[in-house]
Amino acid sequence: MLTRKDFAGRERSTWCRGCGNFGILNAIKLALVEHDIPPHEIFIVTGIGCGSKLPHYMKVTGYHTLHGRALAIATGARLANHRLRVMTVHGDGDAYAEGMAHFIHAARRNVRIVDLVQDNRIYGLTRGQYSPTSERGKRTPTSPEGAIDRPVNPLALAITAGATFVARGYSGELKHLAWLIGEALEHPGYGLIDTLQPCVTWNRSYAYDFYNKRVYKLEEEPGYDPTDRAGAWEKTQEWGERIPIGIFYRGEPAPTYEEQVPALRAGPLVEQPLERLRPDQIEKLRAEIA
Ligand code: SF4
Repeated sequence: MLTRKDFAGRERSTWCRGCGNFGILNAIKLALVEHDIPPHEIFIVTGIGCGSKLPHYMKVTGYHTLHGRALAIATGARLANHRLRVMTVHGDGDAYAEGMAHFIHAARRNVRIVDLVQDNRIYGLTRGQYSPTSERGKRTPTSPEGAIDRPVNPLALAITAGATFVARGYSGELKHLAWLIGEALEHPGYGLIDTLQPCVTWNRSYAYDFYNKRVYKLEEEPGYDPTDRAGAWEKTQEWGERIPIGIFYRGEPAPTYEEQVPALRAGPLVEQPLERLRPDQIEKLRAEIA
């Protein structure tokens, strides 16, 4: 039987003490244990940012890639081997600024990826610049008189783009977050988990005490129906004295992108023979990869 120790990494974390990324790391391990997914059966792709160091701190197949490109790499992995479980873990800057186009297209194509976004509403790694989810008026080194952009609403965007699993987690609610990750892993399609992640160093206005007073769980809300798409979109607008977490929207399963690609009808690429290539071409490819 798997335990969290099976996922223990060997590198020492450089995250600040109290960073919300610790909760996310532990929630991912817990979800993998609860769903009996061993390290070699999950592929975690990250971008650039504090939280994107996550695969260094886990024993897991990981790929730490370029800024904003985590979903592109994850899509490629799913196309090469759609039997592999694939997660992306990246920050709000990586996901909703540099990677915004990939986010919209992964959702509308329904590539089976669990897309966990560490949303601390700031660029933490580069010392506190405002990000796409920072509120209007946010004063930072790149917005000394206050941010003039309106923040993106990733949950509303995901629903609009066609995502069939849209959730918000909170790193201060570890078991609840692990439950959301598990539900997303079992969902047959793209799933967004925008995760409230306190950055205790550069965004103290959104620390644990702010969220602890405000978050509430949608599944405990009488009458909330996560299958109602219009109602879910409406719920994504709530942000203030009460902040909902949980599954906002869970639609009917739809065919995934990888199930529909004609070249993959015969099975995953990794299981298909390389018969269309000449031996010298195969050798050339091997030499390039080696
Ligand atoms: Fe975490 Fe913020 Fe420190 Fe980065 S700067 S490790 S996000 S607390």
